[in-house]
Amino acid sequence: MTRYPDLNTSPRILLGPGPSMVHPRVLRAMAHPLVGHLDPQFITLMNEVQDLLRYAFRTKNPLTIPVSGTGSAGMEAAVCNFVEPGDSVLIGVNGYFGERLCDIAGRYGATVRRVERPWGQVFDPAEIDAALKQHPAKVVALVHAETSTGARQPLEGIADIVHRHGGLLIADCVTSLGGVPLEIDNWDIDIAYSGTQKCLSAPPGLAPLTVGERARDVLRRRKTKVANWYLDLTMIETYWGSNRTYHHTAPISMNFALREALRLVEEEGLEQRWERHARNARELWDGLEALGLKLVVPAAHRLPSLTTVMVPDGVDEAAIRRRLLDDYNVEIAGGLGAFKGKAWRIGLMGYSSSRENILVLVGALERLLGRR
Ligand SMILES: *Cc1c(COP(=O)(O)O)cnc(C)c1O
Repeated sequence: MTRYPDLNTSPRILLGPGPSMVHPRVLRAMAHPLVGHLDPQFITLMNEVQDLLRYAFRTKNPLTIPVSGTGSAGMEAAVCNFVEPGDSVLIGVNGYFGERLCDIAGRYGATVRRVERPWGQVFDPAEIDAALKQHPAKVVALVHAETSTGARQPLEGIADIVHRHGGLLIADCVTSLGGVPLEIDNWDIDIAYSGTQKCLSAPPGLAPLTVGERARDVLRRRKTKVANWYLDLTMIETYWGSNRTYHHTAPISMNFALREALRLVEEEGLEQRWERHARNARELWDGLEALGLKLVVPAAHRLPSLTTVMVPDGVDEAAIRRRLLDDYNVEIAGGLGAFKGKAWRIGLMGYSSSRENILVLVGALERLLGRR
């Protein structure tokens, strides 16, 4: 006898900044019986996951792996492996996740310099160039998809500038991988990380990471040990590389989930998936504007995977979100930082990005805001 009932949470329509809804095939894969993490069958699966991740990242980088942990573990791995105490790091801060990158880099002893833009805006390459002319940096980090604002940072051409100044470019692709055009090799990005629970639509728990040759060189030439044991790529790469040496136990079921989620990406086709995200986002934007709502980010830099919309004057934004959840089973999020209390954040990521979900949300908002 137990005092605790069976799990009975309501099935939600997840339209927040993550997690997104998980495809039934991914849930089924997670229920698959475990194998050991050094079982030859699991080793085959690791190779498949790596191949599929290369497909999704559009890269040939051999060091392309799912880091154990959520997107933030990918973020920390991207920083701690390439930064040593006293290194100069330049970070673009135009939202919450740029701030987090500064916090992480500072904790590893970096001298952090910031280029800043108001929340919702993006950087142009000339600003990065000017900042690097003033102070060269070993590492530059930018957020491709700022989930706190809904802005898409153009990355094309930026790596060339960073390389000309002798640095490495890190891109936070947590809310872009699998939903927004991203070209690791064509754009020459040195290090990129993501998370499983956004546009890939698996549960939170793994952080896809890809590291190019230039960055691996920097890793090999470190003078100090990586300050984080768990995320030390010099050890992790021997497990995901040809040696398969034990470092920590890979989260088996999460790798089952990620493999299935990536198989779904490949079946749909990466470009078709980008196009679906773009098409559905336009439908959402039209629907919100038809309700008289104002979108925060100008169309040119709007992310298809995350939309920020202003809360109309006099509306209690938290009360509306609560009613969406209680009466319609729909989750959206409030604003962070500069947008706290002022904006809603609506995610259309992966399996959540569908016309039927948009119709439910826009219809519900129409009623709750008294537009009908
Ligand atoms: C969600 C997110 C993260 C952090 O990922 P977690 O899975 O929450 O740890 C980092 N960067 C961006 C841009 C994100 O949207």
